[in-house]
Amino acid sequence: MSKKVELDQEECIGCESCVELCPEVFGFAPEVGKAYVLEGADGDSACVEEAATACPVACISVG
Ligand code: SF4
Repeated sequence: MSKKVELDQEECIGCESCVELCPEVFGFAPEVGKAYVLEGADGDSACVEEAATACPVACISVG
């Protein structure tokens, strides 16, 4: 089973770093100005950890 990726939208400031770094896992919802985890996203994707590390408010968790 792949790792579960969670994104706390309350904390997200909509910088889009995660979407740029890992578009296969994160999408951006312009209507709310926040990122979200795509349906069926593979938490084992190499870029997930990179995106979590890059998030300025550390609201992405992988586990
Ligand atoms: S990197 Fe963090 S703050 Fe930036 S859009 Fe992604 S979840 Fe939101």
